[in-house]
Amino acid sequence: MKAVRIHEHGGPEKLIYETVEDPDPGPLDVVVRVKACALNHLDIWVREGLPTMKANLPHILGCDISGVVEKAGSYVKDITPGFETIVHPGISCGVCEYCLKGMDSACRRYTIIGGWHVDGGYAELVKVPARNILPKPEGMDFVHAAALPLTFLTAWHMLVTRGNLRPGETVLIHSAGSGVGVAGVQVAKLLGARVIATASSDWKLEKIRSLGADETINYKKVDWLDEVKRITNKAGVDLVFEHVGPDTFEKSVRALKTYGRIVTCGATSGPSVTLDLRYLFSKQISLHGSYMGGLFEMKEVLRFINEGRLKPVVDSTFPLKDAARAHEKLTSREIFGKVVLIP
Ligand code: ZN
Repeated sequence: MKAVRIHEHGGPEKLIYETVEDPDPGPLDVVVRVKACALNHLDIWVREGLPTMKANLPHILGCDISGVVEKAGSYVKDITPGFETIVHPGISCGVCEYCLKGMDSACRRYTIIGGWHVDGGYAELVKVPARNILPKPEGMDFVHAAALPLTFLTAWHMLVTRGNLRPGETVLIHSAGSGVGVAGVQVAKLLGARVIATASSDWKLEKIRSLGADETINYKKVDWLDEVKRITNKAGVDLVFEHVGPDTFEKSVRALKTYGRIVTCGATSGPSVTLDLRYLFSKQISLHGSYMGGLFEMKEVLRFINEGRLKPVVDSTFPLKDAARAHEKLTSREIFGKVVLIP
């Protein structure tokens, strides 16, 4: 089959389109013919490598996969070739106490398809555990289907499971035009919250309002903290949806009302922040880390996708062989929604 692999960490030029051996399913696996694979910021980190994290090289990236089951392992009984699927991106043991409680991402064996250690969807075929096979939403094309798993699962775990966002509360969503931001705005509105969203340009803010955001702030033009204070009559927000890091974190803390909480799933602007403890204790603030989500949560998200109440948003598509260009597009920040590869 054709696939895009990295043989060493580095820039987009390390994404090599080449012929590799077809994957063979183990007894509990299936092989999926990939129809579309969406990019995530995780792909950039895996491509570049981190000081403490290296991929198993050569490695095939790609966590968000839609496709058609091509071959099923000998113990797989209920999934047959031809089944149209989106693939749940998290792999866990399925039997430890965390997995049994639905807290898959706390499993010691938790890993992400296309993440650091398991080959992913930048390929014509991918091997995945049969339990990760979920039905593609009816009537949705493969490109949009690939655009939904990781970001909606992440946003759901952040706002529902970790943040406990309630109807009537106010939530601030940073960089709402990003993949996870687009999902965050929609999940927050579904929960009945009031959404204040930020982005770097007016054309993105217009699209964000069409997704349901109540208030929008162009952070290139105005001080977003001043705007949040103005919009909330100086009260601040109940919850900040953080995935940016040092560029926003200190002001995110100051944007909170008493008993407010920050939920963070990422650090696209860097790994370290400063926290003024006086705000933490005097305003009785809570900080919540959030990492991916569980299979059960993915199924909850799919229910609302099938009802048309959550909608994946696609920015652009690229042929698989142009994965490097797709990575450049993702890091340009001139995008709204997901960038998707088509083998
Ligand atoms: Zn487990």
